[in-house]
Amino acid sequence: MVRRNISRRNLLKSGAAALAAIPVLVLSGRAFAGVNAALRASMKYQDKPQDGKSCAGCGQFIPGKPLGGCKIFPGDNEVSPQGWCVAWVAAPK
Ligand code: SF4
Repeated sequence: MVRRNISRRNLLKSGAAALAAIPVLVLSGRAFAGVNAALRASMKYQDKPQDGKSCAGCGQFIPGKPLGGCKIFPGDNEVSPQGWCVAWVAAPK
């Protein structure tokens, strides 16, 4: 009976340690890498310019290397500077 409680305790400790390690693993390497596929689809995002307009010239673009982010695409940091979507607005000069 005692041995069973120790095993359960060890199991819980191991599970807690594994859960605690997740943020560390996520933050290492390519942190926050991701694509917001749902918003990309709804905003008709494409990886090429449209009528001479691209993300690089958009007020919503967040520059990165080599790809960036977009203020209206949360969690997405793979937006191409050469991309475009229907929410394009000219960046302030
Ligand atoms: S709003 Fe659209 S065009 Fe502007 S940076 Fe974001 S994805 Fe690119």
